[in-house]
Amino acid sequence: MNRFLPRAAAAPLLALCLLNAQAQPGHAHVHGQVKLDVAIDVQAITIHVDAPLDSIVGFERAPRTDAERKTAQQALAQLRTAGKLFTIDPVAACTLSQVDLDAPALGFGEARPGQAAGHGDLEGNIVFECRSPVLARYIDVGLFDAFPAIRQIDVQIATPDGQYQRTLKRPSSRLSWGRQ
Ligand SMILES: [Zn+2]
Repeated sequence: MNRFLPRAAAAPLLALCLLNAQAQPGHAHVHGQVKLDVAIDVQAITIHVDAPLDSIVGFERAPRTDAERKTAQQALAQLRTAGKLFTIDPVAACTLSQVDLDAPALGFGEARPGQAAGHGDLEGNIVFECRSPVLARYIDVGLFDAFPAIRQIDVQIATPDGQYQRTLKRPSSRLSWGRQ
């Protein structure tokens, strides 16, 4: 990598990444890795998405060209229609009710403290209202198909019955938990 970057440019970037990883593990991100927090309660299933922008649009700053603007708009449109990215076990009878997205580096949503310089995240809160959310045993996650740069999805699931941790890697896209 150093061969392709002037040393003066590469070294500070690397140092910042390491500093960020050590000082603020909660805000450090790894390109290609997405975090999901799934909360299942009596009326809703809420999915919080935390993704490096690099894995969603391929850059972590304001779009500079028409092609980049188009990429960003298409990515956001896909996330806004999140019902296609997250297919919840039909037994729960869920419908998409709300999507909130923040990607300050792209110029929308709220900035947050602790972001390493030169990096940017997309955060989303996706709420499904469900007739029987606690009956759900799986969610089919379409992020790998929609965003080819994503390699791994780390998931925490909180249900009234307990907490689960899962990691999805290509090609597996079904997130399941609890008794089948
Ligand atoms: Zn980054």
